[in-house]
Amino acid sequence: MTKGAGKDKKKNKGIATRLAEGGRRAEWTAPVVNPPVWRGSTHLFATDAERKKALGKIGDGQFFYGRHGSPTQWALSEALTDIEPGAAGTVLYPSGVAAIAGALMAVLRPGDVLLVTDNAYDPSRSMATGLLADFGVEPRFFDPMDTHGFADQICERTKAVLFENPGSLTMEVCDVPALTAIARQHGVISLIDNTWASPIGFPALERGCDISIMSLTKHVGGHSDLLMGSASAGAKYFPRLKRTAQKMGQVVSPDDAALALRGLRTMKVRLDHSTQSALAIAKWLQTRSEVAHVLCPPLAGSPGHDVWARDFTGGCGLFTFILKGRTPQHRSRFVDALEHFGIGYSWGGYESLALPFDPEDIRTASDWPPVRWNADETGDRLGIRLSIGLEDTDDLIADCKQAFAAMDIE
Ligand SMILES: *Cc1c(COP(=O)(O)O)cnc(C)c1O
Repeated sequence: MTKGAGKDKKKNKGIATRLAEGGRRAEWTAPVVNPPVWRGSTHLFATDAERKKALGKIGDGQFFYGRHGSPTQWALSEALTDIEPGAAGTVLYPSGVAAIAGALMAVLRPGDVLLVTDNAYDPSRSMATGLLADFGVEPRFFDPMDTHGFADQICERTKAVLFENPGSLTMEVCDVPALTAIARQHGVISLIDNTWASPIGFPALERGCDISIMSLTKHVGGHSDLLMGSASAGAKYFPRLKRTAQKMGQVVSPDDAALALRGLRTMKVRLDHSTQSALAIAKWLQTRSEVAHVLCPPLAGSPGHDVWARDFTGGCGLFTFILKGRTPQHRSRFVDALEHFGIGYSWGGYESLALPFDPEDIRTASDWPPVRWNADETGDRLGIRLSIGLEDTDDLIADCKQAFAAMDIE
């Protein structure tokens, strides 16, 4: 082990230290700090005997053929495993959606029932009802907030459940420890889309999940210049994940792996900053007459805050607010008037983004907007999701302020 990259791998280290040191094995980096970008499809063997020897050891850390990776990808996998307590390994995928698909394909077989949280974002939902249904898997959606009713959703054929916590649009925080305990009692495998919090904010395997999935496109990349995904699991499910990914030919480019690793090193400082900035903006929005609801789990008084405070060790810059008494035209004028926020999908980059959304169009198993809002009377149902980047908080608040003014000019 290189001096400066931690000597004792087993010693308990803080998360920031693990982020700084993960994957920096001397044989992968020496003499530089970062693992270089190892481009290459063919790996050469010195002798035929060496080739045969390698054949039996295909996997991380063994040169064999480009599809099985090189030190650039292995270092990223190892660093991600290092920050997910309980993980035996991490598989990389070319996108977050590929990670969700790869993890589900690893555990599901025709005839199985897959439970999907009703707050899952659309590509996960449509993967379940489209691709997976085509392969003979039956998707069923459930209300993530109905902990007591969860056991009734499970039948003999239920193989796995997919959580997304908090929901990346509607921000409900469900009781993952309780739900995964029920799943485990029934022999159901728990997968979670952990992109919002990452293991820094939600150590998913410690909270009862079997497979923890992330879109690395968001916080890990952090600079809106790459697409990638990961799935981490303990010793029971990691080999299955790995095998399935290899059979499906999943591979990430070494250039992108190097970028993701670079992003990972600064991830905690970026997350801390965005969380604080988002909290300040969310608090300010709470004071505005144009706003009916602020949905930001790290904010005291926001729906789900109590469970968030119990289960999470950090947040991020992504949250949602609901306009009060306005029309879709008002909402479009608001986002069009923003000068520092881009309009776009994705999040977790250094730049702030705003996205109008209407979850009621896709939900099937639970009410949105929540009944308690009385939204039918007030019309308070138009959502705007903000991804807070690294700009000055005051500039972002001033931008929202002028956009609210512009919104009401017909
Ligand atoms: C963006 C996103 C993904 C998918 O990530 P890609 O890398 O864009 O494929 C998965 N889950 C959530 C919650 C996301 O927001």
